Amino acid sequence: LLEIKSLCKSYGKDENKLQVLKDITFSIQKGEICVLLGPSGSGKSTLLNIIGGIDVADSGYVSIDGDKTKNMSEKELTMYRRKHLGYVFQMYNLIPNLTLKENIEVGEYLSDNPLDINELINVLELSNHENKIPNQLSGGQQQRTAIGRAIIKNPDILLCDEPTGALDYKTSKAILKLLEDVNKKYKTTIIMVTHNDAIKNMADRIIKLKDGEIRKNYLNNEKISAEELEW
Ligand code: ATP
Ligand code: MG
Repeated sequence: LLEIKSLCKSYGKDENKLQVLKDITFSIQKGEICVLLGPSGSGKSTLLNIIGGIDVADSGYVSIDGDKTKNMSEKELTMYRRKHLGYVFQMYNLIPNLTLKENIEVGEYLSDNPLDINELINVLELSNHENKIPNQLSGGQQQRTAIGRAIIKNPDILLCDEPTGALDYKTSKAILKLLEDVNKKYKTTIIMVTHNDAIKNMADRIIKLKDGEIRKNYLNNEKISAEELEW
């Protein structure tokens, strides 16, 4: 589904040049939950943004179902994002004056074959709240709404950058569990940056980044010890 080949990315120029990603290569199969781990500044968000077509690599490419981002025009990148991707960030970025359901509908318009919105709202356990506006919702409910907005179009890949970063531990676990449910029910491939240790139980693949390089790429979480999850 996703192929990443020899990706390099630097920011800045000359003596201020900082190489953030160094020759990143890996693939992800359809339906996987892949977790990116690594210290602050290791390049996790940069990698996610390049996969997401929000940022552009200096060399190498990202390919989703054969659509290569290399040399794409702005317009082609927009199409690539619409066709393949959903995004969930640490901040929910909901539209404040729209209801929960209307916020999810924003994502619905981006797709020719969206998921059934009422069923999705049920899966998200938000049925009793659909007419509330964001400031009448808890943080966890707002993030569930943002997940709904991202997946209603049934994207090939859902990209999540610290989706639980603004939530308490217990709510975070519930959100991660929800993402696992979404992955099972809709076969959505998920690539996620998270520090929450609940990922041990749900990741199919764990990629550890350090200083812009892949240090480890594990399949099958069961064999991972707690120490290996540290960096
Ligand atoms: P964190 O866990 O803190 O979110 P991260 O692994 O997501 O860290 P990135 O955000 O990918 O790290 O940043 C990697 C490096 O690239 C950092 O040193 C950061 O300062 C630098 N960087 C990121 N974006 C830019 C930018 N737009 N311009 C210049 N430098 C940048
Ligand atoms: Mg980051």
